[in-house]
Amino acid sequence: MNYLSTRGHPDRKRFCDILLEGLAPDGGLYLPEQYPKIDTATLAKWRDLPYAELAFEILSLYIDDIPPADLKAICAKTYTAEVFGTDEIVPLRELEDGVYLEALSNGPTLAFKDMAMQLLGNLFEYELARRGAELNILGATSGDTGSAAEYAMRGKKGVRVFMTSPDGRMSPFQQAQMFSLQDANIHNIAITGVFDDCQDIVKAVSNDLGFKRKYRIGTVNSINWARLLAQVVYYFAGYFQATASNDKPVSFTVPSGNFGNVCAGHVARMMGLPIQTLVVATNENDVLDEFFRTGVYRVRAAVDTHETSSPSMDISKASNFERFVFDLVGRDAAKLRKLFVDDLGLEGRFDLSADPAFKDAAERFGFKSSRSTHADRLATIRDTDKRFATLVDPHTADGLKAAREFLVPGVPMVVLETALPIKFAETLVEALGEEPARPKKFEGIEALPKRVVKLPADAEAVKAYIAQNCD
Ligand SMILES: *Cc1c(COP(=O)(O)O)cnc(C)c1O
Repeated sequence: MNYLSTRGHPDRKRFCDILLEGLAPDGGLYLPEQYPKIDTATLAKWRDLPYAELAFEILSLYIDDIPPADLKAICAKTYTAEVFGTDEIVPLRELEDGVYLEALSNGPTLAFKDMAMQLLGNLFEYELARRGAELNILGATSGDTGSAAEYAMRGKKGVRVFMTSPDGRMSPFQQAQMFSLQDANIHNIAITGVFDDCQDIVKAVSNDLGFKRKYRIGTVNSINWARLLAQVVYYFAGYFQATASNDKPVSFTVPSGNFGNVCAGHVARMMGLPIQTLVVATNENDVLDEFFRTGVYRVRAAVDTHETSSPSMDISKASNFERFVFDLVGRDAAKLRKLFVDDLGLEGRFDLSADPAFKDAAERFGFKSSRSTHADRLATIRDTDKRFATLVDPHTADGLKAAREFLVPGVPMVVLETALPIKFAETLVEALGEEPARPKKFEGIEALPKRVVKLPADAEAVKAYIAQNCD
């Protein structure tokens, strides 16, 4: 399997090359040259596989530069009941007639990002050992991504993590989750500033090519193809749990921000998994909902990006969206470049409303969308607690609300649960008047010793810290 860039660069790469890279050299995103097609006989064979073996089967179709026995061992080591809490790994439960929750948030940091990040940690360790290389991951986080990356990379050979976060601005629970890690290869850097300062520092360091090369700086951001690929697996696992046979359609609703999660659903559908509809659920930051309703993609300025009670969906532009648009325009790289380089670059928007490719998009690709507000989240959290004695986090609540707008009798609707309620206790308290229960392993973490350095919002200071800690 070879990978190409959405922006038409002539080079073709193998999986392990793009594993350690971010963007393609022309600024595009990597995609496989084609999606492997799954026939009903294969679906039947996969239906009863344990999660780790299903992951191996799907990953094998996209990874041909890791020996099968090694890849199988990596999957087996990643997806265990010990790490994810159950043998099913992503258990499905029926909430009400035809509406299901797929639990993706029982990994180490209680959000779905663990599903991909845990695999990435093991793939990185494997590939770096094979190359005799090292990698220093530099990142910026306001919460979920940073902790998922740290829990995936802790103790891994050949990898160090330097994670910047805005000093004092994460929730006490999130701070405790990250700062209580005592592993020598994990470095928490609290920046005196806001999240944008952290992101600017990461950009400045990455743009210093000499430094970047000398210190082998890499990232784990959501545009990494391996993360997306890992997420394809739980669409298959959800499908098998929601159906008794492989001729039944299923729909999924996905709380969305950077379009990584739902893009994995798109890939599963392109492979032939019988997905009827993919509902993109957004909060007040509704760039994606606007696109699917109107055909206009209009990125927002920082001042127009709302701080909401589903903060992991607070995005101004969706960094994985280019992958879907590439398929939407028939994989025409010139057309893609016009949209993402010329139109977005000059005007901050593109308009496909009159394009035939958009007109039948819902039909061809199955996408629908909806948007929720803070009041919707509170109402959904209360209603779900009252009627089903189930607590959901604000992101999953956005999903549930959207899902109900697209129910079709006889077609199971699977809502992806993207975080556990304890991560967003403040909003749960606002909705219900009490704190959600906390898993045992997180009891009292706020009191643990913290491992964090404080630095000014200055790229030079961060570079100096990295240099000092790289021997
Ligand atoms: C990251 C995240 C999302 C958004 O996922 P994307 O892949 O960026 O669309 C939704 N909910 C939670 C809890 C998250 O952490």
